[in-house]
Amino acid sequence: MTKCIGCGKCERHCPQHIEIRRELKNAEKALLPAPVKLIFTVANRIANL
Ligand code: SF4
Repeated sequence: MTKCIGCGKCERHCPQHIEIRRELKNAEKALLPAPVKLIFTVANRIANL
């Protein structure tokens, strides 16, 4: 979930045409409390510098 870079490759291969990027965002909102989400966001940005 937090490693997704939004490239869309998975959606091009999904036989059910699931909008995976959108669903990952929905799952993230539903499952992660805000402070944990913030920590993941900051860690990902630092890792991608
Ligand atoms: S869009 Fe799909 S293939 Fe691309 S990084 Fe996210 S989950 Fe992986």
